[in-house]
Amino acid sequence: MEDVIILNLGFNKLQLLKGKDGYIQMDAGYRWDIKRYLKLLKKNNIKPDEIKLIIVNHAHADHAGGLKKLKKITNAKILVHEEDADYIRKGVSSKVAPRTLLTKILEWTMPESFKNYDPIEPDIVIKDNYSLEDFGVKAKVIHTPGHTAGTISLITEKGTAFIGCCAQGFPLRLFPGPPSVAQDIDLVYTSWQRIIDEGATEAFISHGKSISVLKMKKILKKRK
Ligand SMILES: [Zn+2]
Ligand SMILES: [Zn+2]
Repeated sequence: MEDVIILNLGFNKLQLLKGKDGYIQMDAGYRWDIKRYLKLLKKNNIKPDEIKLIIVNHAHADHAGGLKKLKKITNAKILVHEEDADYIRKGVSSKVAPRTLLTKILEWTMPESFKNYDPIEPDIVIKDNYSLEDFGVKAKVIHTPGHTAGTISLITEKGTAFIGCCAQGFPLRLFPGPPSVAQDIDLVYTSWQRIIDEGATEAFISHGKSISVLKMKKILKKRK
């Protein structure tokens, strides 16, 4: 198992993977998470300029909101899927599609300011199967839509996966499982199958710590 560093920002958890000459980071958190973020980096003995790449799981404000500030501090490259790229350029969340009562209430009561953020031009816009070898890790980024059209996941050769909101856990639901917010839940399950087929052994998520691949397989089997 590879060394994964988890930065717990509260609502969101960011993951870091160590490459040859720096770290790859999944997501940026909300724009107001920056203080906590820097504190956690320091605690892990990581300097901001060691962050070389920030992968945007998708363009919701809790994942992309901090991008502009983080770019300034780290000078990391920003990688996003083409389907979610324009939202980042405009600094708005892509469509939030709640599926449960809790997330519907959250969505109804959420102020607009929670959905908007500082716009930023991404450095790398991908479609699928993007190799991260240039960043010193044996891993790739794959297109795993469903939560949003442009949701992407990182998966390493050894099977460590960062899947963001392809699955969700606390506080959006009690235990990790299918996302409580998803534009297309059928597409989510297709993406789960892809993540499994690509050899994932452990899947880290943004809300909650991780979901076991065994559990993902069980849920998929039940649906058939
Ligand atoms: Zn989201
Ligand atoms: Zn989220």
